Amino acid sequence: MFIFDAHLDLSMNALEWNRDFTRPVSEIREREKGRTDKPDRGKGTVSLPEMRRGGIGFCVATQIARYVRPGNPLPGWHSPEQAWAQTQGQLAWYRSMEERGQMTQVKDVAGLDRHLALWQQTGEAQDLPVGYVLSLEGADSILTIGHLERSYAQGLRALGPAHYGPGTYAQGTDATGGIGWRGRELLTEMERLGIILDVTHLCDESFWEAVKHFHGRLWASHSNCRALAPHHRQFTDEQMKVLIERGAVIGAALDAWMMVPGWIKRKTTPEEVGLKLERIVDHIDRVCQLAGNVLHSGIGSDLDGGFGREQSPGDLDTIADLARIPGMLAARGYKPEDIEKIMHGNWIRFLKETWK
Ligand SMILES: [Zn+2]
Repeated sequence: MFIFDAHLDLSMNALEWNRDFTRPVSEIREREKGRTDKPDRGKGTVSLPEMRRGGIGFCVATQIARYVRPGNPLPGWHSPEQAWAQTQGQLAWYRSMEERGQMTQVKDVAGLDRHLALWQQTGEAQDLPVGYVLSLEGADSILTIGHLERSYAQGLRALGPAHYGPGTYAQGTDATGGIGWRGRELLTEMERLGIILDVTHLCDESFWEAVKHFHGRLWASHSNCRALAPHHRQFTDEQMKVLIERGAVIGAALDAWMMVPGWIKRKTTPEEVGLKLERIVDHIDRVCQLAGNVLHSGIGSDLDGGFGREQSPGDLDTIADLARIPGMLAARGYKPEDIEKIMHGNWIRFLKETWK
């Protein structure tokens, strides 16, 4: 089945993890053997050939670069200008993938229809470019409001104002506080340009302020249910309901820490807690139950988003395993047309409504 994955940090892996995503996952793992600079070395699950093998022909791919002030213990750049430069390097990698025919940037309805037709026509996905919608995770790199228009011209179509910790325009996961005047100014400009607000990672206070001040289209690209994995990184039922009312689609994520209660990073193992891919269906199903329909749930796997197999479902080898989710949904009683909506249809409808 054709699959849309609404959150992948592809360029971050290319530039910061030094992964050549045009190669098979097995080869990427092999080259990382013995390296200990990152906890997920040799445990990656994503690459472009592996996406094609699983039918993941379309995704939202990020630019991501945090700015950290002195005293902020999170990894990040020491000036916003360095963060901007990093996102421009990431864009250069996407452009080189486009030039090689490995990826296609999708930024309007015409491009969307072209890309879908390409994947529908061809029986063999091996050589097809993977489509991507460009998104920015954490807006610290947006130096001035004028930079947002520049980013839009580069194809940026979605933006999450915050990531982990305190941000310039909003407060993210593990931080507290509102969006301030800079956040409000950012949201106003996003609305003018038609950039989708990704509410993922906003802390509760920033979330409520952002949904109040922003009147454009919003989604949660990779967010699970707090009721099933109690931590403020996930959204409460009340937050989910507001997103559903606003027409959002919510992407279920495969970061183990966000799937089950009590996961301790770098300590808990998937085997210890019996975490399997099937667990994602609980999060998908909860969103569908809250909505009373299947129109607001999708996949936003976040695979290789700073973690690998050590922090993913135990029975997931690579991103191609997303292709097993339709069978799991069917086993829970979801009809074929509902499963198609969850696996790609909802995101595609959302984008068409946004860009029409
Ligand atoms: Zn994230």
